Amino acid sequence: MTKVMLITGASRGIGAATARLAAAQGYALCLNYCRHAEATETLAKQIIEAGGQAIAVQADVADEAQVLRLFASLDQHFGRLDVLVNNAGILEQQMRLEQMDVGRWQRVFAVNVFGSFLCAREAVLRMSTRHGGRGGAIVNLSSVAARLGAPGEYIDYAAAKGAIDSLTLGLAKEVAGEGIRVNAVRPGVIDTEIHASGGEPARVARVSQSVPMGRGGLAEEVAEAILWLASGQASYTSGALLDVSGGR
Ligand code: NDP
Repeated sequence: MTKVMLITGASRGIGAATARLAAAQGYALCLNYCRHAEATETLAKQIIEAGGQAIAVQADVADEAQVLRLFASLDQHFGRLDVLVNNAGILEQQMRLEQMDVGRWQRVFAVNVFGSFLCAREAVLRMSTRHGGRGGAIVNLSSVAARLGAPGEYIDYAAAKGAIDSLTLGLAKEVAGEGIRVNAVRPGVIDTEIHASGGEPARVARVSQSVPMGRGGLAEEVAEAILWLASGQASYTSGALLDVSGGR
């Protein structure tokens, strides 16, 4: 039976790289996006043309009604869920904490934290043996920012990723006896468009100097870790926070 993976934020970056690798490994894919419909539709089309299965579904993960609609589309199209990759995430303009307003904190926590909680809840309802499911895996995208703190850049984003670590640790224990493994990947500085949202598109080049390996990472390198945690090869791994950060 073909396994079904839902990836939030699959329009570009780490989410899109994960989708390509997952399709090559034989997963059927539900590709969520928020704003970039065309890129996501194109990715789904490429996967289908290569002989795979994929649908693109718009939903803002911070909005409960839209998340319910996303999972209803998943149910209708595939009728099962094996892996959730909680990848959708945002950060805002780099600044010090005393310059930040509460609206920004609400946006950062709504997408990064509540979005992941909402999708995790819906995934557990479908995958847990407690609810008649056949088990599965959840992979959350945290960040090394959770332990570095992102001073002078975005402490709010770092704190939101700290919440993702706690979600991972708690939920892993809560559903371990119900067939679901829950893990997180903590990327370091990865070459994607997210850094432009912070106002520094060339951030990867600057931060690379503080990476022991001396370079930023590729989205594909993070995707490899996500796919391993999702796979049966990680059958005894749950509650792990896996740094993919070039030693940083
Ligand atoms: P990108 O900015 O390249 O992509 C972000 C993705 O998230 C897009 O597909 C975007 O969709 C989607 N998204 C944003 N907001 C929402 C929303 N409200 N609802 C649904 N989807 C949304 O980011 P990356 O690929 O770099 O990051 C992916 C994950 O990895 C994030 O959680 C990020 O925090 C984490 N990470 C990244 C690091 C890096 O250096 N790049 C380092 C550590 C962690 P759309 O384009 O359609 O709006």
